[in-house]
Amino acid sequence: MANRRARFCAWCNSPLIYMPQDRLPAFRRYCDDTCARQAWLLARARQLMTGIKALDVAVRLLRRSRKPTVQAAGFTLADLRRDLVDRCADERVVRIAAFHSKLPRAA
Ligand SMILES: [Zn+2]
Repeated sequence: MANRRARFCAWCNSPLIYMPQDRLPAFRRYCDDTCARQAWLLARARQLMTGIKALDVAVRLLRRSRKPTVQAAGFTLADLRRDLVDRCADERVVRIAAFHSKLPRAA
């Protein structure tokens, strides 16, 4: 029973302190509501995150840097993002054309 207790918070990695008198559950994953909420927000953001959105975030952060190498990485990722968007658009056009070719011709 006691060995099932997590020793460290799953969010901030601080040691979890279990007091005999506290009313918290015997098994906890997080220090408190703040850490639990941060972990929940990360899980939700990960579900909603797409490759394109991740590239947007990375490009924004990298271009804000003062280091030329980091800024250059931002520009390269922006090019990569554009290629990806173009390729997705091309694939959509091909898919729609294939779908239309299967439809019966209107008289
Ligand atoms: Zn914590």
